[in-house]
Amino acid sequence: MRAAVLRALGERLAIEEVPKPAPGPGEVLVETRACGLCGTDLHICDGLAYVPRLPHIPGHEPAGVVADVGAGVTGLHAGDRVVPHLFVTCGTCDYCRSGRDAQCTGVTGILGVLMPGALAEYFTIPAANLFALPDSIPFPIGGLIADAVLTAVHASRRARLGVGETAVVLGAGGVGQCLIQILVAAGVRVIAVDTTAEKRDSAATMGAALVLPAGAEANAQAIRDFSDGQGAQAVFECVGKGETMAQAASYLRRGGQIIVIGEEPEFPRIDTIQIAQRELEIIGSRNGSRRDLRDAIRFVAAGMIRPRIARTFPLDEINEALAFFRAGCDGRVVITIKDN
Ligand SMILES: [Zn+2]
Ligand SMILES: [Zn+2]
Repeated sequence: MRAAVLRALGERLAIEEVPKPAPGPGEVLVETRACGLCGTDLHICDGLAYVPRLPHIPGHEPAGVVADVGAGVTGLHAGDRVVPHLFVTCGTCDYCRSGRDAQCTGVTGILGVLMPGALAEYFTIPAANLFALPDSIPFPIGGLIADAVLTAVHASRRARLGVGETAVVLGAGGVGQCLIQILVAAGVRVIAVDTTAEKRDSAATMGAALVLPAGAEANAQAIRDFSDGQGAQAVFECVGKGETMAQAASYLRRGGQIIVIGEEPEFPRIDTIQIAQRELEIIGSRNGSRRDLRDAIRFVAAGMIRPRIARTFPLDEINEALAFFRAGCDGRVVITIKDN
Protein backbone atom coordinates (compact mmCIF):
# COMPACT_ATOMS: atom_id res chain seq x y z
CA MET A 1 0.00 0.00 0.00
CA ARG A 2 1.02 3.63 -0.38
CA ALA A 3 1.84 5.61 2.75
CA ALA A 4 3.45 8.87 3.86
CA VAL A 5 6.52 7.90 5.86
CA LEU A 6 8.66 9.95 8.26
CA ARG A 7 12.18 8.51 8.08
CA ALA A 8 14.06 11.19 10.07
CA LEU A 9 12.89 14.03 12.34
CA GLY A 10 12.77 17.38 10.58
CA GLU A 11 12.70 15.82 7.11
CA ARG A 12 9.98 15.79 4.48
CA LEU A 13 7.62 12.82 4.43
CA ALA A 14 8.27 10.27 1.68
CA ILE A 15 5.47 8.60 -0.26
CA GLU A 16 6.44 4.94 -0.27
CA GLU A 17 5.09 1.50 -1.03
CA VAL A 18 4.95 -0.35 2.34
CA PRO A 19 3.42 -3.69 3.40
CA LYS A 20 -0.34 -3.58 3.99
CA PRO A 21 -0.95 -4.34 7.69
CA ALA A 22 -2.96 -7.42 8.68
CA PRO A 23 -5.56 -7.16 11.46
CA GLY A 24 -4.65 -9.22 14.53
CA PRO A 25 -7.19 -10.76 16.89
CA GLY A 26 -9.77 -8.16 17.89
CA GLU A 27 -8.46 -5.71 15.29
CA VAL A 28 -9.94 -4.21 12.14
CA LEU A 29 -8.26 -3.24 8.88
CA VAL A 30 -9.66 0.13 7.79
CA GLU A 31 -9.37 1.47 4.25
CA THR A 32 -8.62 5.17 4.74
CA ARG A 33 -10.76 7.61 2.74
CA ALA A 34 -9.60 10.91 4.26
CA CYS A 35 -7.31 12.13 7.05
CA GLY A 36 -7.07 15.62 8.53
CA LEU A 37 -3.83 17.30 9.60
CA CYS A 38 -3.22 18.73 13.07
CA GLY A 39 -0.58 20.74 14.92
CA THR A 40 0.52 17.48 16.53
CA ASP A 41 1.56 16.21 13.08
CA LEU A 42 3.91 19.19 12.79
CA HIS A 43 5.25 18.49 16.29
CA ILE A 44 5.86 14.83 15.36
CA CYS A 45 7.69 15.75 12.14
CA ASP A 46 9.72 18.40 13.98
CA GLY A 47 10.60 16.07 16.86
CA LEU A 48 8.79 18.17 19.50
CA ALA A 49 6.67 16.50 22.19
CA TYR A 50 5.98 13.01 20.80
CA VAL A 51 8.90 11.11 19.33
CA PRO A 52 7.57 8.02 17.55
CA ARG A 53 9.65 5.02 16.58
CA LEU A 54 11.02 5.68 13.09
CA PRO A 55 10.16 5.09 10.33
CA HIS A 56 6.69 6.37 11.25
CA ILE A 57 3.41 6.80 9.37
CA PRO A 58 1.59 9.84 10.84
CA GLY A 59 -2.13 10.59 10.52
CA HIS A 60 -4.60 10.65 13.42
CA GLU A 61 -7.73 12.32 12.01
CA PRO A 62 -9.14 9.67 9.64
CA ALA A 63 -12.39 8.21 8.46
CA GLY A 64 -12.75 5.19 6.23
CA VAL A 65 -14.46 1.88 5.66
CA VAL A 66 -13.89 -1.54 7.16
CA ALA A 67 -11.82 -3.64 4.73
CA ASP A 68 -11.25 -6.76 6.86
CA VAL A 69 -11.67 -7.96 10.44
CA GLY A 70 -9.38 -10.07 12.63
CA ALA A 71 -10.31 -13.13 14.67
CA GLY A 72 -13.05 -12.62 17.23
CA VAL A 73 -14.40 -9.34 15.84
CA THR A 74 -18.18 -9.19 15.76
CA GLY A 75 -20.57 -6.45 14.71
CA LEU A 76 -18.31 -4.89 12.07
CA HIS A 77 -18.38 -5.84 8.40
CA ALA A 78 -16.54 -4.96 5.20
CA GLY A 79 -17.84 -1.66 3.85
CA ASP A 80 -19.00 -0.23 7.20
CA ARG A 81 -18.21 3.49 7.43
CA VAL A 82 -16.15 4.18 10.57
CA VAL A 83 -14.26 6.79 12.57
CA PRO A 84 -11.74 5.74 15.26
CA HIS A 85 -11.10 6.72 18.86
CA LEU A 86 -7.34 7.23 18.79
CA PHE A 87 -6.23 5.77 22.13
CA VAL A 88 -5.66 2.02 22.45
CA THR A 89 -6.56 1.75 26.12
CA CYS A 90 -6.37 -1.02 28.73
CA GLY A 91 -10.05 -0.79 29.69
CA THR A 92 -9.36 -1.69 33.31
CA CYS A 93 -7.39 1.18 34.94
CA ASP A 94 -9.14 3.76 37.15
CA TYR A 95 -9.20 6.28 34.28
CA CYS A 96 -10.71 3.84 31.76
CA ARG A 97 -13.31 2.79 34.33
CA SER A 98 -14.27 6.38 35.05
CA GLY A 99 -14.64 7.33 31.38
CA ARG A 100 -11.36 9.26 31.02
CA ASP A 101 -10.02 7.20 28.10
CA ALA A 102 -7.33 9.67 27.03
CA GLN A 103 -5.79 9.46 30.54
CA CYS A 104 -5.47 5.64 30.51
CA THR A 105 -2.32 4.63 32.42
CA GLY A 106 -2.05 1.39 30.44
CA VAL A 107 -2.32 2.93 26.98
CA THR A 108 -0.51 0.78 24.39
CA GLY A 109 -0.83 3.04 21.36
CA ILE A 110 -2.21 6.26 19.90
CA LEU A 111 -3.13 6.04 16.22
CA GLY A 112 -0.67 7.98 14.07
CA VAL A 113 1.23 9.21 17.13
CA LEU A 114 2.66 6.20 18.95
CA MET A 115 1.59 3.61 16.34
CA PRO A 116 1.32 3.62 12.54
CA GLY A 117 -1.31 6.12 11.43
CA ALA A 118 -3.74 6.89 8.66
CA LEU A 119 -1.72 8.85 6.09
CA ALA A 120 -1.79 5.54 4.25
CA GLU A 121 -4.25 3.52 2.21
CA TYR A 122 -4.94 1.25 5.21
CA PHE A 123 -4.48 1.19 8.99
CA THR A 124 -5.34 -1.29 11.75
CA ILE A 125 -7.02 -0.47 15.05
CA PRO A 126 -8.86 -2.51 17.73
CA ALA A 127 -12.54 -3.02 16.88
CA ALA A 128 -13.43 -1.48 20.26
CA ASN A 129 -12.05 1.85 19.01
CA LEU A 130 -14.35 2.15 16.00
CA PHE A 131 -17.59 4.11 15.86
CA ALA A 132 -20.11 4.10 13.01
CA LEU A 133 -19.98 7.15 10.76
CA PRO A 134 -23.47 8.05 9.48
CA ASP A 135 -23.96 8.12 5.68
CA SER A 136 -24.88 11.81 5.92
CA ILE A 137 -21.34 12.80 6.99
CA PRO A 138 -18.78 12.90 4.15
CA PHE A 139 -15.45 11.16 4.89
CA PRO A 140 -13.32 14.38 5.01
CA ILE A 141 -15.64 15.81 7.68
CA GLY A 142 -15.92 12.42 9.40
CA GLY A 143 -12.15 12.28 9.86
CA LEU A 144 -12.13 15.65 11.62
CA ILE A 145 -14.46 14.21 14.26
CA ALA A 146 -11.65 11.93 15.53
CA ASP A 147 -9.57 14.87 16.70
CA ALA A 148 -10.67 18.49 16.04
CA VAL A 149 -14.37 18.02 16.86
CA LEU A 150 -13.77 15.54 19.69
CA THR A 151 -11.16 17.80 21.28
CA ALA A 152 -13.61 20.71 21.19
CA VAL A 153 -16.47 18.65 22.67
CA HIS A 154 -14.23 17.41 25.49
CA ALA A 155 -12.78 20.86 26.22
CA SER A 156 -16.27 22.37 26.42
CA ARG A 157 -17.08 19.76 29.08
CA ARG A 158 -13.91 20.54 31.08
CA ALA A 159 -15.26 24.08 31.63
CA ARG A 160 -17.97 25.16 34.06
CA LEU A 161 -20.13 27.40 31.89
CA GLY A 162 -23.82 28.23 31.94
CA VAL A 163 -26.27 29.85 29.53
CA GLY A 164 -25.55 33.55 29.09
CA GLU A 165 -22.02 33.36 30.49
CA THR A 166 -19.02 34.55 28.51
CA ALA A 167 -16.17 32.47 27.07
CA VAL A 168 -13.17 33.51 25.01
CA VAL A 169 -11.83 31.20 22.31
CA LEU A 170 -8.18 32.14 21.90
CA GLY A 171 -7.07 30.84 18.48
CA ALA A 172 -9.92 30.28 16.01
CA GLY A 173 -8.35 27.49 13.95
CA GLY A 174 -9.69 23.96 13.43
CA VAL A 175 -10.42 23.15 17.09
CA GLY A 176 -11.33 26.75 18.00
CA GLN A 177 -13.95 26.94 15.24
CA CYS A 178 -15.61 23.75 16.52
CA LEU A 179 -15.54 25.17 20.05
CA ILE A 180 -17.21 28.39 18.96
CA GLN A 181 -20.07 26.41 17.42
CA ILE A 182 -20.56 24.14 20.47
CA LEU A 183 -20.49 27.05 22.91
CA VAL A 184 -22.90 29.15 20.85
CA ALA A 185 -25.27 26.14 20.63
CA ALA A 186 -25.07 25.88 24.44
CA GLY A 187 -26.12 29.51 24.90
CA VAL A 188 -22.67 30.82 25.85
CA ARG A 189 -21.66 34.30 24.65
CA VAL A 190 -18.48 33.74 22.67
CA ILE A 191 -15.59 36.11 22.03
CA ALA A 192 -13.10 34.87 19.41
CA VAL A 193 -9.51 36.12 19.36
CA ASP A 194 -7.29 35.40 16.37
CA THR A 195 -4.35 36.81 14.44
CA THR A 196 -5.95 36.80 11.00
CA ALA A 197 -8.95 38.76 9.69
CA GLU A 198 -10.04 35.74 7.64
CA LYS A 199 -10.41 33.55 10.73
CA ARG A 200 -12.08 36.37 12.68
CA ASP A 201 -14.66 36.68 9.87
CA SER A 202 -15.29 32.92 9.96
CA ALA A 203 -15.62 33.05 13.76
CA ALA A 204 -18.27 35.76 13.45
CA THR A 205 -20.12 33.69 10.83
CA MET A 206 -20.06 30.75 13.26
CA GLY A 207 -21.74 32.83 15.95
CA ALA A 208 -19.00 34.63 17.90
CA ALA A 209 -20.63 37.80 19.26
CA LEU A 210 -17.33 39.70 19.42
CA VAL A 211 -14.10 39.14 17.50
CA LEU A 212 -10.77 40.68 18.48
CA PRO A 213 -7.28 40.71 16.95
CA ALA A 214 -4.78 38.54 18.84
CA GLY A 215 -2.51 40.26 21.33
CA ALA A 216 -4.10 43.74 21.09
CA GLU A 217 -3.55 45.94 24.17
CA ALA A 218 -7.23 46.88 24.28
CA ASN A 219 -8.53 43.28 24.35
CA ALA A 220 -8.77 42.83 28.13
CA GLN A 221 -10.83 46.01 28.47
CA ALA A 222 -13.04 45.10 25.48
CA ILE A 223 -13.72 41.70 27.07
CA ARG A 224 -14.59 43.29 30.44
CA ASP A 225 -16.90 45.76 28.68
CA PHE A 226 -18.63 42.83 26.99
CA SER A 227 -19.10 40.91 30.28
CA ASP A 228 -20.54 43.32 32.89
CA GLY A 229 -17.13 44.80 33.58
CA GLN A 230 -15.91 41.51 35.07
CA GLY A 231 -14.16 39.51 32.33
CA ALA A 232 -14.90 36.06 30.92
CA GLN A 233 -15.84 32.99 32.98
CA ALA A 234 -13.58 30.83 30.78
CA VAL A 235 -10.87 31.13 28.18
CA PHE A 236 -10.24 28.21 25.81
CA GLU A 237 -6.51 28.48 25.07
CA CYS A 238 -6.02 26.82 21.68
CA VAL A 239 -2.54 28.28 21.09
CA GLY A 240 -0.55 27.15 24.14
CA LYS A 241 2.28 29.70 24.16
CA GLY A 242 3.60 31.40 27.29
CA GLU A 243 2.41 34.75 26.00
CA THR A 244 -1.12 33.58 25.08
CA MET A 245 -1.52 31.99 28.53
CA ALA A 246 -0.70 35.38 30.07
CA GLN A 247 -3.25 37.05 27.78
CA ALA A 248 -5.82 34.41 28.75
CA ALA A 249 -5.36 35.23 32.45
CA SER A 250 -5.92 38.94 31.73
CA TYR A 251 -9.25 38.13 30.01
CA LEU A 252 -10.68 36.27 33.04
CA ARG A 253 -12.91 37.43 35.86
CA ARG A 254 -12.08 36.32 39.42
CA GLY A 255 -12.58 32.56 39.75
CA GLY A 256 -12.30 32.15 35.98
CA GLN A 257 -10.93 29.11 34.18
CA ILE A 258 -8.32 28.67 31.47
CA ILE A 259 -8.87 25.42 29.54
CA VAL A 260 -5.50 24.59 27.99
CA ILE A 261 -5.83 22.82 24.62
CA GLY A 262 -2.88 24.13 22.56
CA GLU A 263 0.38 22.36 23.34
CA GLU A 264 3.78 24.01 23.04
CA PRO A 265 6.99 23.40 25.00
CA GLU A 266 6.54 26.73 26.82
CA PHE A 267 5.75 27.85 30.37
CA PRO A 268 2.71 30.02 31.14
CA ARG A 269 3.69 33.54 32.16
CA ILE A 270 1.12 33.84 34.93
CA ASP A 271 2.38 34.75 38.39
CA THR A 272 1.18 32.66 41.33
CA ILE A 273 0.02 35.78 43.22
CA GLN A 274 -2.55 36.32 40.50
CA ILE A 275 -3.59 32.65 40.43
CA ALA A 276 -3.98 32.50 44.22
CA GLN A 277 -5.54 35.90 44.92
CA ARG A 278 -7.98 35.82 41.99
CA GLU A 279 -8.62 32.07 42.47
CA LEU A 280 -7.97 31.29 38.82
CA GLU A 281 -8.20 27.69 37.60
CA ILE A 282 -5.91 26.23 34.94
CA ILE A 283 -7.38 23.08 33.45
CA GLY A 284 -5.75 20.77 30.92
CA SER A 285 -7.80 19.13 28.18
CA ARG A 286 -6.63 16.29 25.95
CA ASN A 287 -8.53 14.82 22.96
CA GLY A 288 -11.59 13.15 24.51
CA SER A 289 -13.33 10.04 25.74
CA ARG A 290 -15.31 7.43 23.83
CA ARG A 291 -18.48 9.06 25.12
CA ASP A 292 -17.28 12.44 23.83
CA LEU A 293 -16.64 10.80 20.43
CA ARG A 294 -20.12 9.27 20.31
CA ASP A 295 -21.57 12.73 21.02
CA ALA A 296 -19.23 14.51 18.59
CA ILE A 297 -20.57 12.27 15.78
CA ARG A 298 -24.14 13.15 16.83
CA PHE A 299 -23.41 16.87 16.97
CA VAL A 300 -21.94 16.87 13.45
CA ALA A 301 -24.78 14.68 12.10
CA ALA A 302 -27.28 17.15 13.57
CA GLY A 303 -25.53 20.12 11.94
CA MET A 304 -24.70 21.67 15.33
CA ILE A 305 -21.00 21.62 14.46
CA ARG A 306 -19.91 22.18 10.86
CA PRO A 307 -16.12 21.79 10.77
CA ARG A 308 -14.57 24.01 8.16
CA ILE A 309 -12.12 22.54 5.65
CA ALA A 310 -9.65 25.11 4.35
CA ARG A 311 -8.32 22.90 1.58
CA THR A 312 -7.91 19.26 0.58
CA PHE A 313 -4.78 17.70 -0.93
CA PRO A 314 -4.05 14.25 -2.40
CA LEU A 315 -1.63 12.01 -0.47
CA ASP A 316 1.11 12.70 -3.05
CA GLU A 317 1.10 16.35 -1.98
CA ILE A 318 1.45 15.70 1.76
CA ASN A 319 4.50 17.97 2.15
CA GLU A 320 2.75 20.83 0.33
CA ALA A 321 -0.27 20.22 2.58
CA LEU A 322 1.85 20.36 5.76
CA ALA A 323 3.52 23.57 4.56
CA PHE A 324 0.12 25.12 3.75
CA PHE A 325 -1.16 24.15 7.22
CA ARG A 326 1.99 25.40 8.97
CA ALA A 327 1.63 28.80 7.30
CA GLY A 328 -1.80 29.17 8.93
CA CYS A 329 -5.18 28.71 7.28
CA ASP A 330 -8.87 29.21 7.95
CA GLY A 331 -10.01 25.72 9.02
CA ARG A 332 -8.61 22.23 8.73
CA VAL A 333 -6.42 20.75 5.98
CA VAL A 334 -7.52 17.29 4.83
CA ILE A 335 -5.68 14.65 2.83
CA THR A 336 -8.00 12.65 0.59
CA ILE A 337 -6.61 9.13 0.31
CA LYS A 338 -9.38 7.63 -1.82
CA ASP A 339 -12.51 9.18 -3.31
CA ASN A 340 -15.88 7.97 -2.04
ZN1 LIG B 1 -4.28 16.13 16.69
ZN1 LIG C 1 -6.77 2.23 31.08
